[in-house]
Order: sequence, then structure tokens, then C-alpha cells
Amino acid sequence: MHEMSLAEGVIGIAEDAARRENARRVRKVVLEIGRLSAVEPQALAFCLEVVSRGTLAEGATFSIVDIPGGGWCMRCSREVPMGTSYDDCPHCGSGQVQIVRGTERRVRELEIE
Ligand SMILES: [Zn+2]
Repeated sequence: MHEMSLAEGVIGIAEDAARRENARRVRKVVLEIGRLSAVEPQALAFCLEVVSRGTLAEGATFSIVDIPGGGWCMRCSREVPMGTSYDDCPHCGSGQVQIVRGTERRVRELEIE
């Protein structure tokens, strides 16, 4: 389950930030997870709970911001919505769509105290 290793990375980032600032704990972590990132937000939330136990991030609020998928269609020269990484352009049917949004897996915001 790659959500577990992602959660370990996130908790690592949060703990490093807390230690650097001499904070007592991590209060909140806001994550951006794109719909094309192959990360299941519910599974990730569960993993964050498990991995944070016994760390400075234990008891923190984890909030996951869902980023919709989007691509750039070469033929239409415009941005189009994408439900999966393999979607064709919904307007012209072209397969030449470059993903421009929705692969995010990152920490947007950290609150420590
Ligand atoms: Zn198109």
C-alpha cells in the first residue's frame, strides 16, 4: 500500500518542521492530493493516524484537499478535465492530452505549536 509510505513521508516532514522550530507538537497538516495521483484519500487518512502515533504529530488534524485532474489538449489548445490519467480529450477525442493538474501529493500547510 503506497499510502503507508506516503504517510511516513508526510509525518517525517511534519516532525522535522516541529523540531526545527522547537515546537511541542504538530497541530494540523493540510495535504494536497490530486485525483490522478493514485492515492486513495481515505486510505491515506487511516495511514496518517497509524503512522503519527507516538510522534509529535499524534492527535493532529489531517486535512486532505482534493485536486481535480486536468490536462492540456494539444489539438484543442485548451485545458480539459481528466477523470483518470488515461482519459482522452472530452471535446475532440484526441489521446494527446498532457496532464497538467491532479498528480499532486504534497504538504500545503503545517501548523505547529
Ligand atoms: Zn481536444
